[in-house]
Amino acid sequence: MDVAVVGLGPAGRALASACSARGLRVVAFDPRADAVWRPTYGVWRDELGALPRSVVASEVIDPQLRAHGRHRLGRPYVLLDNAALQAALPLDGVDVREAALSDADVAGLVGSARVVVDARGARPVNARSAGKDAASQTAFGLVVEAAAAAPALGGAEGLLMDWSTDWAPDPAQPVGVPSFLYAFPTGDGGVLVEETCLAAAPPLPIDELKDRLRRRLLRRGVPVSAIDHPRAREIVRIPMLGRGTAAPRGVLALGTAGRGGNVVTGYSVAHALRVAGPWADAIAAGRVPSVDPRGPADLLRAAGLRALLRLDTAGTLDLFDAFGRRGRGSQRAFLSRDSSAPALAGAMWGMFARMPWPGRRALLAATLGVA
Ligand SMILES: Cc1cc2nc3c(=O)[nH]c(=O)nc-3n(C[C@H](O)[C@H](O)[C@H](O)COP(=O)(O)OP(=O)(O)OC[C@H]3O[C@@H](n4cnc5c(N)ncnc54)[C@H](O)[C@@H]3O)c2cc1C
Repeated sequence: MDVAVVGLGPAGRALASACSARGLRVVAFDPRADAVWRPTYGVWRDELGALPRSVVASEVIDPQLRAHGRHRLGRPYVLLDNAALQAALPLDGVDVREAALSDADVAGLVGSARVVVDARGARPVNARSAGKDAASQTAFGLVVEAAAAAPALGGAEGLLMDWSTDWAPDPAQPVGVPSFLYAFPTGDGGVLVEETCLAAAPPLPIDELKDRLRRRLLRRGVPVSAIDHPRAREIVRIPMLGRGTAAPRGVLALGTAGRGGNVVTGYSVAHALRVAGPWADAIAAGRVPSVDPRGPADLLRAAGLRALLRLDTAGTLDLFDAFGRRGRGSQRAFLSRDSSAPALAGAMWGMFARMPWPGRRALLAATLGVA
């Protein structure tokens, strides 16, 4: 066997499909190999690469970010149709086995396949994962009818982040870890409205996010019936540092099982889709794909995460307002998992330089761990 892929989420499936397309012999394991992925995945349209248009469930041409001001991001953002995305990553020719493998099982594959890849995600069944207090993004979302959601969007086509403090009992004096509203049309007449805590350790509890979302939506005029009887609900828990434990010896970790996630945004899908081809090319050429060594960009992102975990609401609003005022190239460099250290440093410096002095002091203190 050329490749064994354990886990068929976006990362594992994209790799298994790319390897099979190159004529490699692939075996893949997942306890729910045929299930359609349940999370609502969003990526920037320009990150779709060669994927067909059918993978797009909905598209917002000009999403907004709101902090002190309203900022138009001018970069199309799409929600993915998971069934169509899975169809676009076919597993023809892959020997798919319905099984949950333990760490020992995964280690046991070494030797039976030339390359063994652990893509069991950040919270695998039957295996070690990050502790429950690990820095995590948490969110609680509802899918409601577009007409009911309209007041929450306040005229925007979609909201990447709305940091307004109407989640708090007293919006003028918010107390607690800040959270924002993420809101995008789902493409079938609904809108996902999601209260999101970008990162906190311990994670902000889902019940707290549920209360905040309800308060925010009611204040904006969303009908109570839409909140109490949504089309669907979504719960998000993303450990920011992935699984937080090393892959078994001789095994490559891919996606959120490894370093696939952006530790500042929690996102990993676009990166996983992008690296599948190059990894498959390397394996087809008889090489073991190289997992990037930890570099300066990782250190910068780790500093960014440290800051996010410590900044209060005022500092967080100052930071993201500065982000909203940056140019598109700089915003892209900040958000992408694949930006170079100089581009990321430039983006971070640009945000810092556009913050008011109290915000800069708070950001420095938070980054250095003295806040
Ligand atoms: C609700 C939600 C919304 C998210 N939204 C976004 C978003 O919009 N954009 C974005 O970029 N990221 C998003 N993320 C974060 C992250 O990108 C996703 O978690 C993504 O699914 C990670 O892909 P993955 O393939 O690395 O892992 P996973 O998607 O977790 O896939 C792991 C796979 O391994 C299988 N598996 C688990 N245990 C075993 C085992 N023991 N043996 C064999 N197989 C096993 C699972 O069944 C699963 O199929 C979201 C996360 C959540 C939870």
